[in-house]
Amino acid sequence: MPHPTSEQPADVVARLRATFRTGRTKPTAWRTAQLRRLRAMLTENDAALVAALHEDLGKSAYEAFRTEIDFTLREIDHTLDHLDAWLRPEPAPVPPHLGEATAWAQYDPLGVVLVIAPWNYPAQLLLAPMVGALAAGNAVVAKPSELAPATSAALAGLLPRYLDNDAVAVVEGGVPETTALLAERFDHIFYTGNGTVGRIVMTAAARHLTPVTLELGGKSPVFVDRDTDPAAVAERLAAGKFLNAGQTCVAPDYVLTDPETARALEPALIRAVEALYGSDPAASESYGRIVNERHFDRLAALLGSGRPVTGGGSDRATKYIAPTVLADVDPGAPVMQEEIFGPVLPIVTVRDLDEAIAFINDREKPLALYAFTGSDTTRRRLASETSSGGLGFGLPLAHLTVPDLPFGGVGESGMGNYHGRYSIETFSHRKAVLDKPLG
Ligand code: NAD
Repeated sequence: MPHPTSEQPADVVARLRATFRTGRTKPTAWRTAQLRRLRAMLTENDAALVAALHEDLGKSAYEAFRTEIDFTLREIDHTLDHLDAWLRPEPAPVPPHLGEATAWAQYDPLGVVLVIAPWNYPAQLLLAPMVGALAAGNAVVAKPSELAPATSAALAGLLPRYLDNDAVAVVEGGVPETTALLAERFDHIFYTGNGTVGRIVMTAAARHLTPVTLELGGKSPVFVDRDTDPAAVAERLAAGKFLNAGQTCVAPDYVLTDPETARALEPALIRAVEALYGSDPAASESYGRIVNERHFDRLAALLGSGRPVTGGGSDRATKYIAPTVLADVDPGAPVMQEEIFGPVLPIVTVRDLDEAIAFINDREKPLALYAFTGSDTTRRRLASETSSGGLGFGLPLAHLTVPDLPFGGVGESGMGNYHGRYSIETFSHRKAVLDKPLG
């Protein structure tokens, strides 16, 4: 039975901790049962979730399935397929001075973990970390984003109908509710969102010596080499950038390329945007909207940077910002100061690869770096001479859909990672065990 929503954070955590102490969440059977229930929740209520995502972000059904529902289902299935193998204790060779003994490392659940999600993929970014936390045998407090209220309400209604309510709780709310939760002692906090709040989360966690995973953002650059086909590059670049109206943590933030390639990219990007959303993206069912007025105003103020190549239009009443490409953008322009997190793509020109690498390394470490190039040397140099959460050649965003790759940032773009077996690492303690017989 779902528990009353009036329950205070301290009571929620105490209740879940009491369940954890009984050992109920530890057997693999409990974990896989929760994952199957989560799977059923998604497949039996996909229409309600699609409607909520449309209400919050104008997401098309295609995008909602691809990036939220199906994405999470794949994470569940991959985990169900491999969980036994991932949880297997790892034997360690025993050195001669210990004589006859055995040693191994085993994965222990941490206890009660808190998952705090953002609004941009409000279902995926709450549920995918939960998959890992449950698979690792933890009790979970899930805090959806108040800025995607329809999805938050849908998940708060659905999760208790499917999961073990003594071990999983959803707490809805904004800053006051999250602040109250953060005063409690958790065994791990998994936060996805911006770095300012990331610092608040980490400060609160420090009081209890609670480990954190911070999935943050940043300006993810795209280097375009002169040896590439502009039409092919533009097609993939536009698809990655304008998905969810640019409100994707790993979206290409800006393009770095030489002046000649930039000129060739401009008409190709105009055509690519038109191929995706037609000549009037405002009328396209495939194109999303900005989450709220605050973000709309922030983005509208960036449209004046550089020279508009395509887009530039906006409508506050419907929170529409056209897919926009800006050329000849000065690195000092407003659009180059903060993560854009919207459908605005600036092109900044550099002389060559050396200057591009210096440009990237002069700034904070991004969540993703992308490059389009036909050169192995360029690929090798970017891989070894820059630091980013992930690195994608030839296809933006896609690295995070490879289930056996860790997903996470570095430096200002975050700490820790998850997905697949990396979620088990994140949500478990790897315990060292030595067994030396007497005698
Ligand atoms: P948001 O405003 O929804 O905030 C995220 C969560 O933090 C919410 O649950 C919110 O309730 C909580 N929160 C907000 N203010 C708080 C406070 N003062 N104290 C405690 N909790 C608080 O989302 P956002 O931060 O605007 O999300 C966008 C950012 O997230 C971007 O920087 C983006 O790059 C990043 N992001 C990263 C990833 C990733 O996987 N690395 C994914 C999506 C988004």
